[in-house]
Order: sequence, then C-alpha cells, then structure tokens
Amino acid sequence: MKAFRGEILCVAEDPAVAGAEAIHHFEDGLLVVEDGLVVFCGHHDEKFADVPTEKLDGLIVPGFVDAHVHYPQIERIASHGEQLMQWLERHIFPAEKAFADRAHADSVAAFFLDELLRHGTTSALVFATVHAGSVDALFEAALHRDMRIVSGKVLMDLGPEGLSDTVASGRADTEALIARWRGRGRLGYAVTPRFVPTSSSEQLSDAGALVAAHPDVLMHTHLSENLGEIAFVGERFPDAADYLDVYDRFGLVGPRSVFAHCVHMSDRALGRMAEAGSGIAFCPTSNMFLGSGLFDLAQADRHGVAIGIGTDIGAGTSLSVLHTLGEAYRTCQLRGSSLDPFRALHLATAGGARVMGIADRVGALRPGQEADFIVLDERSTPLLARRCAGASLHDRLFALQVLGDDRAISATYLRGRRAYERERR
Ligand SMILES: [Zn+2]
Repeated sequence: MKAFRGEILCVAEDPAVAGAEAIHHFEDGLLVVEDGLVVFCGHHDEKFADVPTEKLDGLIVPGFVDAHVHYPQIERIASHGEQLMQWLERHIFPAEKAFADRAHADSVAAFFLDELLRHGTTSALVFATVHAGSVDALFEAALHRDMRIVSGKVLMDLGPEGLSDTVASGRADTEALIARWRGRGRLGYAVTPRFVPTSSSEQLSDAGALVAAHPDVLMHTHLSENLGEIAFVGERFPDAADYLDVYDRFGLVGPRSVFAHCVHMSDRALGRMAEAGSGIAFCPTSNMFLGSGLFDLAQADRHGVAIGIGTDIGAGTSLSVLHTLGEAYRTCQLRGSSLDPFRALHLATAGGARVMGIADRVGALRPGQEADFIVLDERSTPLLARRCAGASLHDRLFALQVLGDDRAISATYLRGRRAYERERR
C-alpha cells in the first residue's frame, strides 16, 4: 500500500446533470493505492499515517481519456490545405500505407504512447490502420507500458489501392485479433469500420455481426464530420433517414458504439443515439482544422447523449487534452453556449471513460478503480502562474484549459506507478 498527498480534484458525474455535488475537491487530499487500485480518495486522514506517502506538488486529477485518436497519423499532424476527403487522399492514406511494415508500426506506436503519457493521457480509443500488424504493434507497446488502450483493425474494403481489405479478410483479421488480445493487460478491442464511404454494405453488415458476436468489444467509427462526406453517403443510401441511419441498418448503433465528430446532426439522429446509448467523441481541434464545422454540445445535451473528448490526431492539432478543452470552450462559445471548466474536466475523464465502457475502471479515482492519475502544474509557464496566483479553483482549472498543454503535466501515474515525470526546471 502507498499513498499520495496533495490537492485532489475529481468530477465523477456530469455537473450539467448532477450539479455541484459531482465535484470532489480535497485541498489537502490523500489518495491511497494498493495493488494498483484506489483504496481511498478524500481529505488527508491520519488513519493512513503508517502508509508510505509521497507528497505531490500540483493538482492531482484522474488521467485523461482520449476518446478518438489515430496513432498512424501522428507524423502527418499539421498537413496543410484541404478539407476531409482531399486531406485523406493527399496526406493520410499514403502515411497509413506505410503500416504494412511492422517495424514502422512498432516505432510509431512506441512514440505515440510515450507522447500520450507526456500529455497526461492514460486511456485512449485509437484508430490503427487496415493492417492487422498495426494493431499488434500498438497493443504490444500498450501492454508493455500497462496502458488502458482500446483499438482495432480498420475495415475499409472500398479503400484506395494498397489500403483496402476484403469482406472475408476484414472479418478473419478482426476475429483473430479479438482472440489474440482478449483479456490481456488493460487492452480492449473495437470493431472499426473507417466510415461509410470506405466500406461496402456487405462489410458494414459483417461489422454489425462482429459486434453482436462479441459482447466485450466496442464499435468505433466516424459520423457526420464534413458536408461533402455527408452528401456522398446520402447519394449512396438515398432512402436512409440520415447518415446515422445507414450505420443503424447494419446493426452498428448500440450502447457500445462510439461515433467521432457528429458535427452536422439532426434531432432524429441524436434522439436515436441517446435511445441506443451510443457515445460521441467531440473533437474540436480537428473540426476547426479541417473546416468541418462546430459540434453543437447543447443540441447533444438536449437529447442526453454521452460525450467524450477526442484529440483526433492527425486532423487534430494537439495531443494535449488540456489544449483540446480550451478549443472545446471556443467551439461552444461560437455555438452560443458556455462550457463550464469542471464539466470539461468531467468530459475528458469520467465522461470519456463512460463513452468507452470503462467507467467502472478509470476516470474518477473511486475506490476499486485503477489509480491512473496525473499532476497538473499551474506554474508551468510564467503567464499561467500569474493568472492562477490567488485565483479560485474554477478560475485555475479554466486557465489550465485555455493556457495549458504538455508543459502543465508534471507527472503521469498508471495504477499508482509513475510512468512519466517532466524534467525538473
Ligand atoms: Zn478520426
């Protein structure tokens, strides 16, 4: 057993629903960990006086959950010029083809996961590529680091030359990966059709069958990101009610489904998502970078759809969830609503965990949960330090979201073990 003493903040429930009681703040807090699990999280308590205690200087919060990110695209971040479909053709598909080479996949996976830890992200729902080896590379690297990572081989039988599978190979590779990785470490599998434009009806139907056959897997895809993409889907499925309805026809809309983006949504589609228990990954930096549009959080809230935060690298512009929350705030401002910083922290931790179906394991530092947490340093830059000096918790947290990035992560812990520590200044 060991303990960590410092200022602790957790937002286990959505404050927009549960109110201020969702916010748990302990100025002189204590987090007690045994065998990687939280035993106690609360005000410092003398009953743990005999437990070896590490004093942490900073704000302790649960590790960030990135609900949508593409590891094979990390080297194509900041690629100039186009919107979604052209950007994929010009920058992304060529980069993903390189993952046929396992050594390349191993190298990028290791870099990507180390970068996640450096940015305070401890759990993520990750796109790989069409190649089964890209998933093996990521899972091996995640197992080695003891990270909670969910991923899957991308299904795209209508993909470009050199980056497509077939209905049969997609199914066989997916089944083999699920069998190979089930129950290992903290890994999870997601059946991952890229999006409707790159899969045949047969493959989408097969994906639905795979999800139905494996109650422990997620379904992870993209939905209604870009107007050109939506028009393309509408032409292919003219009798579908909307884009979501296409996924629905193939059994891909359910409680284990996570849809990235959802920028242009009808009330019908959001109502259906809420009814099905599906989740949305809100990816503000990506949506602005590709000019896709502004996600309407208030509209999704009216329907009660579960929301997580995605960095969506490589269309996203930062692996920092703190920075992404600042962009989420700006998106909401442009939509005429205001994102509360405590709620933002919830979406980036327990909210994302709920979307990924891992809220019983991580996201809130509840007793019995895995002790994945980070230490935020509000003195990481002179301006942040000046803004936070003497400020309220609300204002400090908001300043971290607007001004903070990887520099504000002073340490990352996985199951109570330090996995990253920023060099001391
Ligand atoms: Zn994406």
